[in-house]
Amino acid sequence: TILMLLGFSLSIALLVWWLLGRPRSMEGELKRALRAREFVPYLQPLVSSIDGKVLGAEVLMRWQHPSSGLVRPDLFIPQAEESGIIVPMTQLLMQTVAQQLSQWQQRLPTGFHIGFNISAVHCRDLSLLAECRAFLDHFPPGQLVLVLELTERELLVATPTTLALFKGLDDMGVLLAIDDFGTGHSSLLYLQQFHVDYLKIDQSFISKIGTESLSEHIVDNVIDLGTRLGLALVAEGVETQAQAEYLRGKGVDYLQGYLFGHPVPLRQFCNERLPQEVT
Ligand code: C2E
Ligand code: CA
Ligand code: CA
Ligand code: CA
Repeated sequence: TILMLLGFSLSIALLVWWLLGRPRSMEGELKRALRAREFVPYLQPLVSSIDGKVLGAEVLMRWQHPSSGLVRPDLFIPQAEESGIIVPMTQLLMQTVAQQLSQWQQRLPTGFHIGFNISAVHCRDLSLLAECRAFLDHFPPGQLVLVLELTERELLVATPTTLALFKGLDDMGVLLAIDDFGTGHSSLLYLQQFHVDYLKIDQSFISKIGTESLSEHIVDNVIDLGTRLGLALVAEGVETQAQAEYLRGKGVDYLQGYLFGHPVPLRQFCNERLPQEVT
């Protein structure tokens, strides 16, 4: 029986080790990738619904893995958020974009928007203020508009720190967008407290335009709400001309989606999508 007990406790120990050890190894892998600078920026254009002009871009993270190739963010962002390593990953991404994009200054239109996705864990202290300042310092004043996208699925708590953070960002001219709008439940008070500038209508609603009357009704309500709040609206996941026309007709100012361009590496985006230098 002693041997059986020993064997039993050994297998329990092994099981615990396996359960706890696995997530740690993912974290270790993310740390290694961070040191090796394997997280790279892809950019997707944001266009005007009126004339299709490229007004900005959203930065989407990709993991350039040495053996697995290009890894999509939904396969590693959740784990990175859980461990908090998303913070240094985002810092690296912002630095990379600042360095690379500042080499294209001649072709960057004034007021070009650059959006980053920011996780709620990143808003727990004021370090983000300095990171945004450092990003903007790479460009002449006013050339770039920095936008931070916060998902509605992760609502922030209005603590003195978060309120000070968003007040500071607002004073700096950094814009705030609520991502995946319509999937959560941000209140009017929430939008005001955090100085929100944009609402990004979730693509699950956009994809239903012209197919299902219920969702179209929800899109209409989201657009109505945003318009009444005086907020700018972005539609994400626009894939068809019919969707674009519907949204333009409803007064949605900005569109994003495969219809206007897939996310591509930063250099390719600049080459293909920025206007030619005026000589
Ligand atoms: P998101 O912020 O809502 O980004 C939009 C996602 O929709 C992107 O997926 C984009 O490639 C995709 N998309 C764009 N246009 C279309 C379209 O017309 N049709 C369809 N079906 N999809 C479209 P991606 O790049 O795989 O990113 C997935 C999510 O991962 C993002 O959703 C965002 O929540 C997260 N993510 C990406 N990069 C970062 C990052 O740097 N930091 C953080 N915290 N999250 C990130
Ligand atoms: Ca986003
Ligand atoms: Ca979204
Ligand atoms: Ca603001």
